[in-house]
Amino acid sequence: MKCQWIGEGEGCTHTALAGSSYCQEHYSKVYQTGTAVRRKKDARRAAAVWDIESAMNEAVQELIDEGYDFADERWEAEVEEA
Ligand SMILES: [Zn+2]
Repeated sequence: MKCQWIGEGEGCTHTALAGSSYCQEHYSKVYQTGTAVRRKKDARRAAAVWDIESAMNEAVQELIDEGYDFADERWEAEVEEA
């Protein structure tokens, strides 16, 4: 069986690897492309999580900068309830 690679317009004339549609060269090319796409997706997801996390940290820091003390606030609330 011949390599099924059709990328870049020129067909490949090499013999495909056993159990694969591609020769050695193109098998690794196809495999690497898939890995790169997956990595890009993971990086995008990680960046989105990081954005939320840093936005939250910024908001908390802003409150602290404005003099808001989370511990004090909780303490006062408990006193009022009593
Ligand atoms: Zn090939």
